[in-house]
Amino acid sequence: MSIKVETLSGETATLDDDKLEELRMTFRGPLITQQDDEYDAVRVVQNGLIDRRPALIIRCSGTADVIDAVNLAREYGMLAAVRSGGHSVAGHSVRDRSLLIDLSEMRGVWVDPDARLVRVQGGATWGDVDREAQAFGLAVPGGVVSTTGVAGLTLGGGIGWLHRKYGLSCDNLRAIEIVTADGRLLRASESENEDLFWALRGGGGNFGVVTSFDFTAHPVGPTVMCALPIYAENPDKVFRAWSDWTETVPDEVTTRAIFWTIPQDPHMPPEIHGKQVLVTGALYAGPPDEGEKVLQPVRQLGTPLADLSAPMPYRVFQAAFDFFFVKGALASYWKSLFLSGPPSRAADLIVRHGLARTAPESMIHVPLLGGAISRTDPDDTAYADRDATCMLSVDGNWLDHRDSADHIAWVRHVISQADEFSTGRTYLNFDSAAPGEAPDLVQAAFGDNLQRLADVKRRYDPHNLFRLNANVPPARPSTDL
Ligand SMILES: Cc1cc2nc3c(=O)[nH]c(=O)nc-3n(C[C@H](O)[C@H](O)[C@H](O)COP(=O)(O)OP(=O)(O)OC[C@H]3O[C@@H](n4cnc5c(N)ncnc54)[C@H](O)[C@@H]3O)c2cc1C
Repeated sequence: MSIKVETLSGETATLDDDKLEELRMTFRGPLITQQDDEYDAVRVVQNGLIDRRPALIIRCSGTADVIDAVNLAREYGMLAAVRSGGHSVAGHSVRDRSLLIDLSEMRGVWVDPDARLVRVQGGATWGDVDREAQAFGLAVPGGVVSTTGVAGLTLGGGIGWLHRKYGLSCDNLRAIEIVTADGRLLRASESENEDLFWALRGGGGNFGVVTSFDFTAHPVGPTVMCALPIYAENPDKVFRAWSDWTETVPDEVTTRAIFWTIPQDPHMPPEIHGKQVLVTGALYAGPPDEGEKVLQPVRQLGTPLADLSAPMPYRVFQAAFDFFFVKGALASYWKSLFLSGPPSRAADLIVRHGLARTAPESMIHVPLLGGAISRTDPDDTAYADRDATCMLSVDGNWLDHRDSADHIAWVRHVISQADEFSTGRTYLNFDSAAPGEAPDLVQAAFGDNLQRLADVKRRYDPHNLFRLNANVPPARPSTDL
């Protein structure tokens, strides 16, 4: 049966049976259409709000499949989404009636301990990276949920539990291999295609399909001291005390405050199930006994309801919140802003809304930034906000889809109230705007770097083949004579 795919110009491209048969012979990975039994399982992404039906899914088995998939998209002018970990809260990585270039089977990780180099295939998750790197006592700064894809997170920046000591995920890149819109496999680094390398460190999925990342890894753990005190009383006092503490901590400490409701889940002590809480989590990237002393104050900001703090394997902490983020289960709508000044500057707003979340699964999440992030100049990478002290991420999550409009309205309302505390920038990895929905947001994220990104886009993707993302349209050619 032939399939119909939407094109970049809004028309329809048809692949007939013969063409599909030819493609099945060409690709090593499977081609999946609505006729296949696994179609529904394969099209699922993390965000349960996103229920989309691509026309054709190519599950790439390696770089050759990616090259052929990009060539196919370009030759037919197909609208193509690119997916690795599938965690895009905006749903960028799947689209109705489109081609889906799926790298989620390309999850190889290779570690060179002497060179402290970790090479990661384009579809790997942070859990894959941690598993291999920790065998050598190494880690690459990643995210806080181990099922998140390395690709989307790194291309958009990448904050986690190590960013204050070692920088963003994208700051730790040595090189990238990428298939660009013309089907070429390019290497980008400080000495090869430098313009592309600059753009890929924060500029998102705009420039092609990344098949591998080379990262610098750092000695971490395997045992690290982690603080996880859970407060229920006096949230305003605790939040302000946490904010004061963040002004004293060394770069080894990465910490975040999270307003949340403890889920009814065996991973959490039963006596605190259903409690509305403020969690002030922290990790010390150094010797655990030193960490125990440095993190002690965050456990004494008030009287904790429970304290899950302990020295623990880095990998265990990296996966500590995985149980909550079951693929396809939670509907999510997130928005974020970078804040200036200490977190307490916005305490009234944060605490008020933190306690008035419209769903127990929702969170107000305030990660502390600074440290190594701010030691890179804003124009050294496409990722532009290096001065923010912290982020306000309003993470709407819920289970009953009938209430979606209310939860989305709540997220937008909170963010609209936070302008006066903001640096004016936003973190696109934590934003639910659909492609093209909010050009202002892209401007706000990249600021002065946007024009340079648009120039790079014009060089590598002049027809905007890769547009299902926080899109940077290619710069128009100059008309000056
Ligand atoms: C539960 C959860 C936890 C999160 N935690 C963190 C966190 O701790 N820190 C943080 O910084 N962010 C975090 N995020 C946000 C996350 O960084 C972004 O959603 C990111 O896009 C996810 O990457 P992915 O590969 O899983 O996404 P996908 O949905 O697979 O891809 C998202 C987009 O990235 C691009 N992309 C993906 N793969 C490739 C590729 N191989 N080549 C080129 N472009 C590609 C495409 O534009 C694609 O649309 C989290 C998100 C969720 C849902």
